[in-house]
Amino acid sequence: MLPVVALVGRPNVGKSTLFNRLTNSRDALVADYPGLTRDRKYGQARYGEHDFILVDTGGIEGDEKGIDAAMARQSLLAMEEADVVMLLVDARDGLTAADQAIARHIRQLGKPVFLVANKVDGIDGDSACAEFWGLSLGEVWQIAAAHGRGVTQLLDNALIPV
Ligand code: GDP
Ligand code: MG
Repeated sequence: MLPVVALVGRPNVGKSTLFNRLTNSRDALVADYPGLTRDRKYGQARYGEHDFILVDTGGIEGDEKGIDAAMARQSLLAMEEADVVMLLVDARDGLTAADQAIARHIRQLGKPVFLVANKVDGIDGDSACAEFWGLSLGEVWQIAAAHGRGVTQLLDNALIPV
């Protein structure tokens, strides 16, 4: 059994972009608008000597009515079956209510979780990401999934527990 790493987060934060980068998969839909990837999608990935299964999720709807309304069922299932959860947030948008709702759920899972702030290309990442520390998920890993920046540092740490 390969370890399972789930990518979760609200739509449009860059989950599918990171998934495609790590799996070299061509058929995941990377959309310029939210919510197109409707279903969980699995891909096999290798980083160094680590083989793992990566799960892309269609995202969490992002309305602000609380965790039940905000989180799509398939994202919840993906988190349940994962060994490691990566919560992606958007460094350009900043912290949203949906991010906070997802983080509350993740803290209750008791699984290794990595808080990943995407889209730090061309901005001051440290300033943009400071508020994400308030999610109480520990380190904020800054990446630019579209360009690969920060991804190896993230994986060096995220794959240790699995
Ligand atoms: P998902 O809905 O979370 O799967 O997000 P997508 O992977 O479909 O990406 C949503 C949008 O963000 C697309 O327009 C991507 O091109 C863009 N995007 C993804 N990663 C980056 C990044 O590192 N930097 C920037 N500037 N844009 C990105
Ligand atoms: Mg997607």
